[in-house]
Amino acid sequence: MEQRIVMVNLVQCWQCKQYIPPGDEIRVRTMRTAVEVSSGLNSEQRDRYEPVSLCLRCDQAAAQADEKEQEQNARYGRMLGWALGGIYMVSVCRAISLPWLVAIGGTIALVRVGILGRCCLALILAENVTAALLGVRGMRAQEPLLVYSTIAVMGMAAWGWRLVHRPWRRQKNIPDRPDQGRVPRANVTTDATTELTKGGLS
Ligand SMILES: [Zn+2]
Repeated sequence: MEQRIVMVNLVQCWQCKQYIPPGDEIRVRTMRTAVEVSSGLNSEQRDRYEPVSLCLRCDQAAAQADEKEQEQNARYGRMLGWALGGIYMVSVCRAISLPWLVAIGGTIALVRVGILGRCCLALILAENVTAALLGVRGMRAQEPLLVYSTIAVMGMAAWGWRLVHRPWRRQKNIPDRPDQGRVPRANVTTDATTELTKGGLS
């Protein structure tokens, strides 16, 4: 019987270093393969990314790790946004001499409705435009009106947007309950906050 030698190039998985059997799927993924450290005056570390071959299992693990990292980054970004926006909004509420409780409660309500960032940006814009038109002192005099109207407009815009894009009523009432404690408190302030709470509950 004739003997034949078959040459097979086996691909090694970059992660687990195992040879991937012929016929098995080979995934190519760009991974961080090295950290380059440059020496000299401005010594810095730079990650090097290269496409590598992976077995199916390692590729799936890497995909999961990537996803988790992206989620974490997104969460971190959101937290940072809430912190910065929250500090700004509370300080604005305090500047128009709202009590701490209302300032913090109102800001939390804005976060829950999901319009804190928009309100902050709109408020910064409105305050700058008013300051340019009336001067800083004139703007300060109008600040309560600016704050209430901005929040009312953004709240109504968010509410309207929801009505347009989700014609059906949301069935789950779970998010309503934590808000109930906040409703009377928000009612104390102004109509603007009432609008906002309505927007959040719908
Ligand atoms: Zn592997």
